Amino acid sequence: MTIKQKIESLREELNTHNYNYYVLDNATISDFDFDIKLKELEKLEKENPSFFNVNSPTQRVGGVVTKNFETVTHKNRMYSLDNSYSKEDLLDWEKRIQKVLGTTDTEYTCELKYDGASINLTYKNAQFVKAVTRGDGFQGDDVTANIRTIKSIPLSVKDSFLQDFEMRGEIILPLEGFNKMNQQRVENGEEEYRNPRNTASGSLKLQDSTEVSKRPLDCLLYQVVTEENKYKTHFEILENARNAGFKVPKTIVLAKNIDQVIDFVNYWDSKRHDLPYETDGIVIKVNNLQQQDELGYTSKAPRWAVAYKFKAEQVTTILNEITYQVGRTGAITPVANLVPVELAGTTVKRASLHNADQIKKLDIRIGDTVFVEKGGEIIPKITAVDLDKRPKDSQVTIYATNCPECNTALIRTEGDAKHYCPNQFGCAPQITGKIQHFISRKAMDIDGLGGETVDLLRKEGLVSNYADLYDLKEEQIIPLERMAEKSAQNIINGIQKSKEIPFEKVLFALGIRFVGETVAKKVVKHFKTIDNIITADFDTLIAVDEIGDRIAQSIIDFFSDQANIQTIDRLKNAGLQLEVSAESLENQTDKLQGQVFVVSGVFYQMKRNELKKAIEDNGGKVSSSISKKTNFVVAGDKMGPSKLTKAQELGIKIISEQDFINKIS
Ligand code: AMP
Ligand code: ZN
Repeated sequence: MTIKQKIESLREELNTHNYNYYVLDNATISDFDFDIKLKELEKLEKENPSFFNVNSPTQRVGGVVTKNFETVTHKNRMYSLDNSYSKEDLLDWEKRIQKVLGTTDTEYTCELKYDGASINLTYKNAQFVKAVTRGDGFQGDDVTANIRTIKSIPLSVKDSFLQDFEMRGEIILPLEGFNKMNQQRVENGEEEYRNPRNTASGSLKLQDSTEVSKRPLDCLLYQVVTEENKYKTHFEILENARNAGFKVPKTIVLAKNIDQVIDFVNYWDSKRHDLPYETDGIVIKVNNLQQQDELGYTSKAPRWAVAYKFKAEQVTTILNEITYQVGRTGAITPVANLVPVELAGTTVKRASLHNADQIKKLDIRIGDTVFVEKGGEIIPKITAVDLDKRPKDSQVTIYATNCPECNTALIRTEGDAKHYCPNQFGCAPQITGKIQHFISRKAMDIDGLGGETVDLLRKEGLVSNYADLYDLKEEQIIPLERMAEKSAQNIINGIQKSKEIPFEKVLFALGIRFVGETVAKKVVKHFKTIDNIITADFDTLIAVDEIGDRIAQSIIDFFSDQANIQTIDRLKNAGLQLEVSAESLENQTDKLQGQVFVVSGVFYQMKRNELKKAIEDNGGKVSSSISKKTNFVVAGDKMGPSKLTKAQELGIKIISEQDFINKIS
């Protein structure tokens, strides 16, 4: 085999595995073996740059930065869809098209209406060449580099399909991935993304494609535009597109008549909440392509297709009051307090209003009758105000100018959707919130101290920031409400014990905005001591792996506040770990650089946590679950049987405690 053939065969093999995994959801190779093959291909491509191909599976990781997305005119316009809301609407539509066609012999393809951002993918000679957003339907933005990172999109398609065509689909964020992204944001003290659709569409416009490659985006396909006359029906095209490599959901069906369409609509109206992604309706398309041609387009939409919109579960109720919540970072969230109402099986009393702009947009006022909806999201939202029912004397809502908790004037910086209370050291929920974060399990892990107790301690004037915890005395706690000697002792012991918590967790505990667990680890690994971090300037900070402008600026801001510096001095005096301990420094190497470990079972020479720490100290990564990214499983006694099978299935190396110790010594 020549090198060229070897490279091509590896690419084809990896493409097939990607397809099986991301499109068919049916892995045919262990992640470990996949990575080996990918590395082999990477190496060959590097050694033979003349065989570079932008559509190689090695190019999925991103690395392209786009400052301005180029505007591109669509070769074929991207139309909207006409909507229908009832069975009568569907029957009317059928009558109309049958009249134009002069026949009652019509079949339909039924698809879900995927709720994301539409995309047009251009293929030439069966190779992916370009991806453009819908834009206004005539022109969109070229987002090719970002789209290339989405692994369910084939970069080259099988010969048996078409050669030159446009493939249209929807870029979506499945709910699970979306929720994970939000969890991470909450941990970092960032505002949650509102909904999967906007987040998917925002992801397409990220400047750094490496960032896009990390998001769990997916692409569901629904339309082919081509001049090749190979297929006769839409359903046939979609089925063949799936075989050629595209993710065409298995939910599509061919309906022989409008009754079967209505069955499909009814089925999904009740089952749609079980889908792993959001849908807001059904799309019905005339199946025969020749008939589609005859029907053509209106100025806005194809006549051969129609969307059926599900009724969002919606009720009306009255807005009693708008209150404002203050988060630990001082971010203000307006909350609508409603007359309680039943909606989709739960009683709704409150709904988030997000920020001042949202209130302005809705022009929502006290006493208004409002529409409350529950879509795929968990939190109900207010979609509109019923202006006909607005009381005559209603007053325009004036957004809070002062903090509801401490009365400090709120601020709003440019580019931030939220208002903030700047009184971080004097504002009750910020004080309590910061201490709660400080003592939480992933931070200082202080046992015996819960959120309510913290608030009690604050009210009693015993703590106003986390450094105060270390001055607490048992005698001060015992007299408090619902406290006994035993619980007071527990609290003090827990606080004492936290002095042993390693520096990286202490840094996370400080609650610096955007500094989550992972970032804290990175920063500590690089700077080693708190003093090094305090004195680091912006350029030094952004030079660290995975620290961007925003995180760097946030760290600088935090430490330029003298009050924070004083708090840190107090923590130092109390004996907290504010630098990497000498012994752990001694044991730090790069021996396990880039390797991912899963630890399972009972160990004898080291405690499980020590083992994990040893992995990280030597440059490795610890992961909690086995996946294709895992390199080694360190197996102790009584390793979980499901983990064992999974590791074996994926062909991941299983090593003993002793093997591991040999590895690092
Ligand atoms: P609308 O934006 O309401 O006019 O609806 C048209 C949009 O629906 C298209 O631009 C697509 O992005 C989207 N869509 C989602 N699923 C489908 C589907 N199965 N077939 C056609 N369009 C779809
Ligand atoms: Zn305040």
